[in-house]
Amino acid sequence: MKDFIDDNAIEQLLERTANPEAKRVEEIIAKAKELKGLSLEETAVLLQTEDRELIQEIHAAARAVKEGIYGNRLVIFAPLYISNHCANNCLYCGFRRDNKELNRVALTMEQIASEVEVLEREGHKRLLMLCGEHPKLSSLDYFCEAIETVYGVKTEKGGEIRRINVEIAPLEVDEYRRLKATGIGTYVLFQETYHHATYQRMHPSGPKADYLWRLTSMHRAQEAGIDDVGIGALFGLYDYRFDVLGLLSHAQQLEKDCGVGPHTISIPRLEPAFNAPAAVLPPNPVSDDEFKKLVAILRLAVPYTGMILTTREGPELRGEVFGLGVSQISAGSRTNPGGYQDGSAFRAAQFNLGDTRTLDEVILDIIQRGHIPSFCTACYRLGRTGKDFMDLAKPGLIQKFCRTNGILTFKEYLIDYAGEATRAAGEELIARLIEETRQAGTKKAITSRLARIEEGQRDICL
Ligand code: SAM
Ligand code: SF4
Repeated sequence: MKDFIDDNAIEQLLERTANPEAKRVEEIIAKAKELKGLSLEETAVLLQTEDRELIQEIHAAARAVKEGIYGNRLVIFAPLYISNHCANNCLYCGFRRDNKELNRVALTMEQIASEVEVLEREGHKRLLMLCGEHPKLSSLDYFCEAIETVYGVKTEKGGEIRRINVEIAPLEVDEYRRLKATGIGTYVLFQETYHHATYQRMHPSGPKADYLWRLTSMHRAQEAGIDDVGIGALFGLYDYRFDVLGLLSHAQQLEKDCGVGPHTISIPRLEPAFNAPAAVLPPNPVSDDEFKKLVAILRLAVPYTGMILTTREGPELRGEVFGLGVSQISAGSRTNPGGYQDGSAFRAAQFNLGDTRTLDEVILDIIQRGHIPSFCTACYRLGRTGKDFMDLAKPGLIQKFCRTNGILTFKEYLIDYAGEATRAAGEELIARLIEETRQAGTKKAITSRLARIEEGQRDICL
């Protein structure tokens, strides 16, 4: 497959759109509010906007778009690292091969099951499973066996993992077929940076040095039938404006070639990591204001694509960014294999976390900020994936399912796992949400199911 990222074209676009006129910016914001998405050129204009008032307008529009499509729910997940063995040498990552001081671990199936038990007992239902890239010690066979292990772990109170999204190195089409057969949700992989020269510098050796093989992975995954794919860029490696346009180009190419764009876009920012030179001194640091701006612009450019924010960011910034367009967040995370049982993470973590609060603390914070925490996994389990999902999302129908399922799964969490303060605040929120529900049919659907959950039934969804 041909390389579809043209560095010169992106650089020229950014030059052409520098210092945009306020009128042009306002026209683009108005178009974005119609939920039709934005072209590369329109996105570039917003990225080049430096005027404070106009940036506030971009934020306000992003809030309105997020509210209109996703409502105020936030889907919660936890990452599960199973191995930190890696043959690559990414200059920003603690797992890089040349980090000889890292404590290397590949968890056994028993250890993986124990990690999952901890997560289930905290209330998690969704995981993102990941590992380094190593032909033997983080192999596909090992990874597939781990998925089967995780789905098999059941704990008291109906504790179970209902959806595993995965993030592993690029595969061949046949290998993606094997991965799909294990019952994964979304296949996630970040291009890190779309800028070729920077990519080459950051990935000096190992299989990841091949830019094109990585860029085309989502096309191969789609060919293998994995129709929910998630892309991302690691912000801090190159000019954030370039990488936002790279993400958008990638999304457009997938839509053109596969009939559906990415299910999610992740927006990780570089964090300090042990013995990782590019993480200690990021080549192109992205400030908090720039980060908020890029989140808001992505929300306007691809309104129907989920956006994922992780615990790399600190609690305050997370609180601000939730409303700008984020739809999924991780909580209570560890980035060292085995970290949920042993919190010490002694020289085994991939990078440092900005948000180290427990799941329950994050949930309470979310409630207090007026969002609905959701543990819903219904769409993927009912076959609403890929184009089917987008067809539902576009006319706004997803709101109907997502809001109700968010409330129902949140209720399960409150009964089974929440601390006292969270439970009280959560019950109050649910009462308010029921009151605000205007359609009588939906109100009835929610209240009757909530009663069944109180009676002990679990996993009830629309
Ligand atoms: N090893 C596979 C890979 O590189 O695609 C699987 C995912 S890797 C464990 C997860 C992601 O962590 C990487 O794609 C990278 O974007 C991110 N990452 C690595 N080092 C980081 C750092 N110092 N700060 C923030 N994110 C980092
Ligand atoms: Fe390995 Fe992934 Fe870390 Fe690179 S980012 S060193 S591939 S684990």
